[in-house]
Amino acid sequence: MTSLLREPAAFRAWCDAARAEGHRVGLVPTMGALHAGHLSLVEAARTAGATRVVLTIFVNPLQFAAGDDLARYPRTLDDDLAACESVGVDAVFAPEIASMYPAGFSTGIALTGVTEHLEGEFRPDHFDGVATVVAKLFGLTGPCVAVFGRKDYQQHAMLRRMALDLDMPVEVVGAPIVREPDGLALSSRNVYLSAPERRRSLAIVTGLRAAWDRYAAGERDTTALESAARGPVAGGMDRIDYVRVATVGGVVPVEGVLEGPHVLAVAAHLGTTRLIDNVVLGHDPRP
Ligand code: AMP
Repeated sequence: MTSLLREPAAFRAWCDAARAEGHRVGLVPTMGALHAGHLSLVEAARTAGATRVVLTIFVNPLQFAAGDDLARYPRTLDDDLAACESVGVDAVFAPEIASMYPAGFSTGIALTGVTEHLEGEFRPDHFDGVATVVAKLFGLTGPCVAVFGRKDYQQHAMLRRMALDLDMPVEVVGAPIVREPDGLALSSRNVYLSAPERRRSLAIVTGLRAAWDRYAAGERDTTALESAARGPVAGGMDRIDYVRVATVGGVVPVEGVLEGPHVLAVAAHLGTTRLIDNVVLGHDPRP
């Protein structure tokens, strides 16, 4: 039976009690509208040693800019709870905005370096909002293993950095991207896509595959790899934010000849929907 917790104090008490019983707590932060990608993180938490898994559902206003999709972001709590129940999540923490950010809330976490490029260039302040809410979740949870999807590659890299830099008692683990059978990365935002847009969205994974194939054939030049991906992406999507090769830990764009694994990351728009995806060349299987 999954416990539903609404108040931060109740959530903290639940985590403390689990540890007092000798459990290793696994934390899976989400914004809800759960799909198989989210649920894979629950399993990844167990694989990483968690014996009690908590999944949080909070559409964090701090990480949306004006004009983003905060108001229309899908909210499906009843379905989410049923999904959590089905995979044996032990507790769901789904707080109200006012209990996470009460009047007088004045603190923000900001990282440099890892947040500067790629998403950071197109969504200023987004990562500060994510870092702030995740720091709160880490503070409430206490010692745990926290699992994030590598679908949001830079977010995962940033949170790993934050836990390290701020001596948080949290082991940050990254989990592989879960895809639809045709290759589209699962995302809560995929529900925004019309049927024609859904077909065209495959341009992104087609681009990642083209670059992966070139890499597998020995290509190591970043310009060649990026343009192999960019062609298909440009052919299907309405607008590209970036198609870029970057370092794996620091997420710094690289130009020239690659040595060792690097992430190839894409962000592009279809109508009013923005999609992101990536593959770690030299590490991930073909997407
Ligand atoms: P979100 O609810 O979109 O904020 O995502 C919550 C967590 O689920 C983040 O760690 C995401 O990276 C992860 N996630 C979302 N989609 C996928 C996916 N297709 N595969 C793996 N992890 C995912």
